Amino acid sequence: MQKNFRLLFFVCWLFVSPLIATPYFKMIVCGWMGGPLETNLSGYLFAPISSEQYISFDAGSMLAGIEMAVSQGSFPHINLDDPKVRYEAPAQIMRRHIKAYLISHPHLDHIGGLVVNSPIDTRSLIMGTPFTIDAIRDHLFNCVVWPNFGNEGHEPLGIYEYERLKLHTTTKIADTTMNVKAFPLHHPGCYESTAFLIENDGHYALYIGDTSPDALEKTPRLEIIWKEVAPLIQKGVFHGIFLECAYENSRSDRELYGHLKPKYMLEELEKLATLVNPTVPTLKDVQIFVTHIKQTYIKNNDAVQMVKQQLEGGNRYNFHFVFLNQGQKYEF
Ligand SMILES: [Zn+2]
Ligand SMILES: [Zn+2]
Repeated sequence: MQKNFRLLFFVCWLFVSPLIATPYFKMIVCGWMGGPLETNLSGYLFAPISSEQYISFDAGSMLAGIEMAVSQGSFPHINLDDPKVRYEAPAQIMRRHIKAYLISHPHLDHIGGLVVNSPIDTRSLIMGTPFTIDAIRDHLFNCVVWPNFGNEGHEPLGIYEYERLKLHTTTKIADTTMNVKAFPLHHPGCYESTAFLIENDGHYALYIGDTSPDALEKTPRLEIIWKEVAPLIQKGVFHGIFLECAYENSRSDRELYGHLKPKYMLEELEKLATLVNPTVPTLKDVQIFVTHIKQTYIKNNDAVQMVKQQLEGGNRYNFHFVFLNQGQKYEF
């Protein structure tokens, strides 16, 4: 009986397996929330699946999440027990395997971990728009709030080399096989935020930093990105989107402060799905990582559960939402 069941399972698998897209990238969550808890803030290690040369999308929490990732076995292909290596495993990951930090904007929940962890780090790149890089140089690594670990400004220690990205232009990420193209995002007030489209050998993924929905802005910015990405999805070379959903739906539009809530996240993804297929809107084979949910610390008000329920409740095109765990590895 059990043998027949196994055979049936195997036959089903034979039919289904070609329909499951082969993962091409991997991602390890250093932190995925939007605050206020300081130990679990935006930071994602990202690499092609067969590479151990990572970039980091934002760096709000780094070592806090890498320690968890190490204890969860999220780096199975890196030998972290070499007795000749001086540093402990989390520092080894940071020093030897993170080649560049791609910072979406200079808010502390996207860079605080990197600043505080910097004394144990070694030479690497910080990439961002000129707005982001200038803000990091002038307001963080400035010899006032923190020693100058950058390579510009007053008495630089030169641990981090700044690289300013030109918008809408493909730039190679040194010491990796990846390329990045940056797009501007609305994140109102005096801020600017960024999305990073990563390409590796003809395969793509998209990291979107904090963003306002186009519906609440005068000029569309997400739509420009959707138009770039839709043909890649049609070709089957696009694997995943990191998209923020900071608040749940009862939050008023006035109080979103440049963030999404489920209503707008679904609306934006539906626009993309319609570009991909106007008759049957779809984002099949695209993983959507839900990022930056903000805890409220109000009793009986679990923002994470509410965002999950509201996204799944309004999910009429079967989007593949992925709700994240700190330290965990995801392949897509
Ligand atoms: Zn922000
Ligand atoms: Zn943020």
